[in-house]
Amino acid sequence: MNDTIAVVGGGISGLLLARTLRERGTKVVVLEKSRGLGGRLATKRVGEAVFDQGAQYFTAKTDRFAALVEAWRGFGVAGAWPGASAHRWIGKPSMNALGKFLAEGLEVKREAKVLGVRRVDNMWEVEIENQATLRVVQLALTAPVPQSLSLLKAGNVELPAGVASSLAALRYHPCLALLVTLSGASLVPAEGLALMGGPVRWIADNVKKGISPTGAAAVTVHLSPAFAAEHYAKTELELFSMIEPVIAAWLGAPVVNVALHRWKFSEPITVFPEPCVWLEELGLGFAGDAFGGARVEGAALSGWALADKMRA
Ligand SMILES: Cc1cc2nc3c(=O)[nH]c(=O)nc-3n(C[C@H](O)[C@H](O)[C@H](O)COP(=O)(O)OP(=O)(O)OC[C@H]3O[C@@H](n4cnc5c(N)ncnc54)[C@H](O)[C@@H]3O)c2cc1C
Repeated sequence: MNDTIAVVGGGISGLLLARTLRERGTKVVVLEKSRGLGGRLATKRVGEAVFDQGAQYFTAKTDRFAALVEAWRGFGVAGAWPGASAHRWIGKPSMNALGKFLAEGLEVKREAKVLGVRRVDNMWEVEIENQATLRVVQLALTAPVPQSLSLLKAGNVELPAGVASSLAALRYHPCLALLVTLSGASLVPAEGLALMGGPVRWIADNVKKGISPTGAAAVTVHLSPAFAAEHYAKTELELFSMIEPVIAAWLGAPVVNVALHRWKFSEPITVFPEPCVWLEELGLGFAGDAFGGARVEGAALSGWALADKMRA
């Protein structure tokens, strides 16, 4: 493994970084703690109902990302949000299709939770839960920054003081996603509904979005950052009873089930002034939406930016 680069995190930034490095002939391995790929581009099945539980859609404002989305459309893994007026793109058949697609042809270790990284003899030792330790020449950390920093701390790695304090200052909003199964069709508009100022910030009907099969009514409800921070540890039923008055008019049919996904690091509150961090002397890089911008496109741009730095 002595000429290999390890990428920690199989979200869009890590996968695009790994693909770009591999296309340039570098050996690269992606380490992802979850079974699924795509990170916050996540889909969950509850019985027959299917929910996009993280990112709901993405936009493409730069030429480079727009070209990638166009290619995805050609491969049938992305498309327009049906019924949405603006240019909103979604994964097809659902958001997690993008992670699976981007991982094709890459060496990816799933269920490979990195516990710590350590610098030994100018190499990186990557300790993975229940797996052999990897020894690699360079390391890219693409998890949310507090998680990446905890891996360095576990291996007693000291970063240059300026970088260390800037990275430590990055904070993220939490989000709570309630995944509500109904016994019949909802009244949520096809393009989803953004709500301001209350406990709920977003509602989307996954049947109208083309993700959940007709007859498996599935509504994603994202709670606002302030509400999520205050009530993060509450159960799905406690949360649902608190927000039901706000969303009742949109449900339109009896609730059959409520599931919960807690996103501790949902979106960066502040974004680092550079699209990535590359510490040449340590062979260590950081990428993700906290660098490129707090959206899917920003994460993609950050992965590419780090690939360019690592090549240089
Ligand atoms: C609820 C929600 C709604 C959103 N809505 C939108 C939206 O509508 N539009 C939009 O553009 N963006 C949206 N976003 C933001 C968007 O999803 C992110 O900006 C983007 O997906 C981040 O990609 P990333 O690669 O930087 O990080 P991630 O997708 O978080 O990838 C990091 C990966 O690292 C893995 N990891 C972490 N620690 C370890 C470890 N120790 N070992 C191994 N692997 C590890 C994680 O499992 C994860 O897969 C939303 C996010 C959330 C949570």
